[in-house]
Amino acid sequence: VIVVGGGPAGLSAAKASSLNGAKTLLLEKNPFIAAVKPCGEATSQETFKTANIKPKPHIVIRKADALVFAPNLKHVKIDRIGFGINKTMFLQELAEKAAEAGAKIKVREEVKEVKRGSGKMVVKTIRERYEAKIVIGADGYGSLVGKSLGIEERSEPVITLQYVMANCDLEYPESVRFYLGNEIAPKGYAWIFPKDDRVAGVGIGVRDVRPKEYLDKFVKMFEREFKNAQIIDFRGALVPVGGIIRQNVVDGAILVGDAAGTVIPLTGAGIHSSIAAGLVAGEVAANASQENNNSKDRLEEFNKRYNEYWGKRIRYSLKAMRALEKLNDNELNLLQEILSAEDILDLSNGLNVARVAMKLLSYPTLATKLAKALL
Ligand SMILES: Cc1cc2nc3c(=O)[nH]c(=O)nc-3n(C[C@H](O)[C@H](O)[C@H](O)COP(=O)(O)OP(=O)(O)OC[C@H]3O[C@@H](n4cnc5c(N)ncnc54)[C@H](O)[C@@H]3O)c2cc1C
Repeated sequence: VIVVGGGPAGLSAAKASSLNGAKTLLLEKNPFIAAVKPCGEATSQETFKTANIKPKPHIVIRKADALVFAPNLKHVKIDRIGFGINKTMFLQELAEKAAEAGAKIKVREEVKEVKRGSGKMVVKTIRERYEAKIVIGADGYGSLVGKSLGIEERSEPVITLQYVMANCDLEYPESVRFYLGNEIAPKGYAWIFPKDDRVAGVGIGVRDVRPKEYLDKFVKMFEREFKNAQIIDFRGALVPVGGIIRQNVVDGAILVGDAAGTVIPLTGAGIHSSIAAGLVAGEVAANASQENNNSKDRLEEFNKRYNEYWGKRIRYSLKAMRALEKLNDNELNLLQEILSAEDILDLSNGLNVARVAMKLLSYPTLATKLAKALL
């Protein structure tokens, strides 16, 4: 099994593939396993359980609750404690688990092409040619593995941009903050994720507008907090929030993580769901390769298993995102008054969406625009 990409999805896939008995090679284009792509680096405690990693202090750099702000800047507090991580350290721990399981990892090994040979897959990199029974494409949004194999479909992206700002005077250093509103972040949200008391990731994800304009406006809203702050990191990337693509499995290959669109749409969170996808794909690929069967039909076991829980969550969260993006700011303000912390968690994570929808049915505008769409 060859895994392309050493992000959360690929490293997890390599571990699972190796643990299930397949000779496994992971190819990463960067010179080191690291969070080169920007990320808010916030995740849940459950992510560590799924990845079977201990939340060591050099990986978990911050524990935080969450505040979700409506356009009128009133907020709902979510008490559940999540982790702010050093994602590079986290990925290196995942790599260590994959290596321990027996996977071979090669960095500085950019994949240039993946082709189907007779009964096998041929992977060409900048320096070598490899053969495998199955390729797992975990190479992020705009996957080269996908393109090489004729998969044209891409999950709809949100454009994100994040500044890491140093020398901040944070009002809520113990909380990650999410800001909603059509003036603040059209069809998305803006965030402030503290990394320590004086450093924070300040970012935005939007659709159909230019993110920088909105991010700069957002930063200006917090004159006191960012008065003396300096931007020490300025990066952006696309996040697939349109749900899982229809053709994520083909003869000889499975796409996982951002390559397949396994992000939770409403939150844009993809660390946990891509690890889960990698683990299932690695196991399916290992078993299928040992059965000498790399057909699409055989590899579809990935979708059957992943969709039972994660696929369903992604679909419900997408439904919620589609309904919420039609609300105006007054309706979003009303939601802030009605929804509890648990409701917000369920809605954004695509869990118990029907329960939240029932609660909204008694509010006329929300009933038509939101509740019915969710049900
Ligand atoms: C600004 C921003 C903020 C975010 N914040 C959060 C957050 O706070 N919490 C959260 O859960 N999620 C967040 N996400 C989403 C999260 O980062 C992704 O969903 C997650 O990293 C996806 O993992 P992946 O392994 O599928 O892909 P990636 O992390 O994109 O990894 C893909 C890997 O493949 C490698 N690669 C690509 N092409 C090749 C090639 N041709 N050959 C070899 N290697 C290749 C890349 O170098 C990379 O290492 C954020 C995303 C962005 C852009």
